[in-house]
Amino acid sequence: MKPLSSRLSVLSGEGALTVYLRAKELERAGRSVIHLELGEPDFHPAEPVVAAMERAVREGKDRYCPMAGVPALKKEIAAYLGRTRNITVEPESVVIAPGCKLSLFLALMAILEPGDEVLWPDPGFPGYPSITRGFGGIPVPFGLEEKNKLQPDPDEIAAKITPRTKAILLNSPCNPTGTVYTDAVQRRIAELALQHDLYVLSDEIYARIIYGQKYHSMLSYPGMAERTLIIDGFSKSFAMTGWRLGYTIAPPELVPHLVMLAINSYTCTAEFTQYAAIEALRDSTGATPRMVAEFQKRRDQFISDLNRVPGFHCILPEGAFYAWVNIEETGTTAEEVCRIMLEEAGVAAIPGAAFGDMGKNFVRFSFASSTATLKEAVARVQKASVAWQGATV
Ligand code: PLP
Repeated sequence: MKPLSSRLSVLSGEGALTVYLRAKELERAGRSVIHLELGEPDFHPAEPVVAAMERAVREGKDRYCPMAGVPALKKEIAAYLGRTRNITVEPESVVIAPGCKLSLFLALMAILEPGDEVLWPDPGFPGYPSITRGFGGIPVPFGLEEKNKLQPDPDEIAAKITPRTKAILLNSPCNPTGTVYTDAVQRRIAELALQHDLYVLSDEIYARIIYGQKYHSMLSYPGMAERTLIIDGFSKSFAMTGWRLGYTIAPPELVPHLVMLAINSYTCTAEFTQYAAIEALRDSTGATPRMVAEFQKRRDQFISDLNRVPGFHCILPEGAFYAWVNIEETGTTAEEVCRIMLEEAGVAAIPGAAFGDMGKNFVRFSFASSTATLKEAVARVQKASVAWQGATV
């Protein structure tokens, strides 16, 4: 056989999946496992959303439909972003896709030439460097470090910009750290993007899952409208992971290119899920704020419990539903801590290196599980921690 594309060898998978598969194996062998490895809300869409999807199918909205998305949904997204993010978006700037990840994939496909550099937050979503490499780009990490309260350092970003830099990837609130970038940090990054004529890919998928502060979209800064692509979707804020529904908000001249990529790949996104998405955005039952209030309660309890585990410390996340725990003081590696937690205590979490080199002394736990489950998980980890307490003496 002739060789396959060399592009395949530069792609990487996701750490969560490896841990999940091992956890499933243990469960099949009769072990009890608490799953804190996956980035998935333990909620389901509100009843009116499910009813809207059923109605749409019955009305025959199960055909090919407009490539950029159903006009009524694009209009609703524009109104929703105006209402919840205080930004002006024209419905014509919206391109719907089957999932936020595909939006990101096609946005990078649209802007990258081989050799282009893309700045990305390390630790960050594993797709950022992998997809960048897949299109021949060079991922250049900038750190989210505890000494900066896990915020990006605009001076570091400035120092890493070269004539080959094409884009900056941002993700606030951040997976895996839960950081909500400050207004000052975003303003500085926006200035750098303007000064160096860079695209900004702002992954705002967790924008609604935020605890207290005001959210600032990257699109709201001076000069950003013509260079920012917002990547967002329904997986997290509306608990619709399996519905595969995302969108890009793009500058007008990019929209026809993203539509061309849609035509050449997925054609269109399922019509009935788009009608249901309109109902999700209207949120007539207040499902999203209720879910976020529940996440906040869990966060407060879980982070304070984790901070009592010997060798663990965790900065309070301001958004998303992840605890990013520094395990350096356990005296052992994150891989070994995760192995002990999974194999001996039945708690699945991900070694931080899955999110980049800067994550090597961290572990990511998802707190999208009930308070009782999270309490039980920490109790198990407390017990298992004797293993690494031995390691430090
Ligand atoms: N971006 C970030 C930061 C994520 O955490 C995820 C999912 O975990 C995605 C994108 C992918 O979202 P979707 O389910 O819409 O493809």
